[in-house]
Amino acid sequence: MLLEKKYNCQTCFKKNSIDIEPSFCSETVDLIEDCSICCNPNTISYTTENQKIVYFEVLKTY
Ligand SMILES: [Zn+2]
Repeated sequence: MLLEKKYNCQTCFKKNSIDIEPSFCSETVDLIEDCSICCNPNTISYTTENQKIVYFEVLKTY
């Protein structure tokens, strides 16, 4: 099961979305995604626990 999470690009502020595969264990993931509109990278950190997203943050990547 994948959860679709929407976020705003930190460069152009347009909406993007990623698919997150939630796990039962507490798990923190850091990844870099390129914006689908302006192609600038965003650093995404999220934590999943009991198949829910308990923490989600998007940071501008330089
Ligand atoms: Zn963008």
